[in-house]
Amino acid sequence: MAECMTMSLSATAKPSASCLICTSNFDEFSDMAALPCGHVFHSHCAGEWFKQSQTCPQCRRRLRNPKRTS
Ligand SMILES: [Zn+2]
Ligand SMILES: [Zn+2]
Repeated sequence: MAECMTMSLSATAKPSASCLICTSNFDEFSDMAALPCGHVFHSHCAGEWFKQSQTCPQCRRRLRNPKRTS
């Protein structure tokens, strides 16, 4: 009988693994924009999004100035 090994997922505190705007995964070279609500998107995706909407695409919280972390 084969032993069932349980892999422990790394519990890093990432808000999400992918950008909800373009649905692509983040990689270490992605420019990311963190919103005050804690959701994170690509900075270029967020830039395009916030030209048309002032709400977070995930939680719909109203935003004024998305903080960019590049
Ligand atoms: Zn994106
Ligand atoms: Zn949000």
